[in-house]
Amino acid sequence: MSSVRSVLALGSNLGASNDTLVLAVADLVEPENVRLHAVSPVVRTRPVGGPEQPDYLNMVIEVETSLGPYELLAHCQAVEDKHHRKRTVRWGPRTLDVDIITYGSWTSDDDVLTVPHPRAASRAFVLQPWAWMDAGAELEGRPVAELAAEAADISGLMPFEGV
Ligand code: ADP
Ligand code: MG
Repeated sequence: MSSVRSVLALGSNLGASNDTLVLAVADLVEPENVRLHAVSPVVRTRPVGGPEQPDYLNMVIEVETSLGPYELLAHCQAVEDKHHRKRTVRWGPRTLDVDIITYGSWTSDDDVLTVPHPRAASRAFVLQPWAWMDAGAELEGRPVAELAAEAADISGLMPFEGV
């Protein structure tokens, strides 16, 4: 069975975010056909857009999977639901957000699944952990570390120093 490497971004700013991220990574790679390839450090970030809300904890992981892209999206959403994600306010606070950043070299501009994720190239909270996880990573032909340094929200990104 052919498998694809996919970068997933996780974020949480409600409840015990650190625990949620750890449990969500375990849930994401629980199926036999989703294997963990790499994990980034956790960063603490000021929210971008949306209402006034607590800081986020963010991280990215790279998985290797034989799931198709829409199957992987459904799996990510099932993990969000398990962690009591309620879809209310867009860009509002959430216990868990899981986004598909890349899926191999596959691209899609479908609203249900846009890949690469349309806002990833400008989000330091995705790009910086990704660059730490994979120093050679590129997005849209540019080094992810360079994109991170140029992102407007890079100044709001702090190392996570525990709870
Ligand atoms: P956001 O992540 O932008 O804050 P949501 O998590 O509520 O918002 O996602 C809204 C919708 O975005 C989902 O229902 C999903 O179908 C769609 N979507 C489009 N592209 C992606 C992607 N690459 N990863 C995850 N969801 C996506
Ligand atoms: Mg999302």
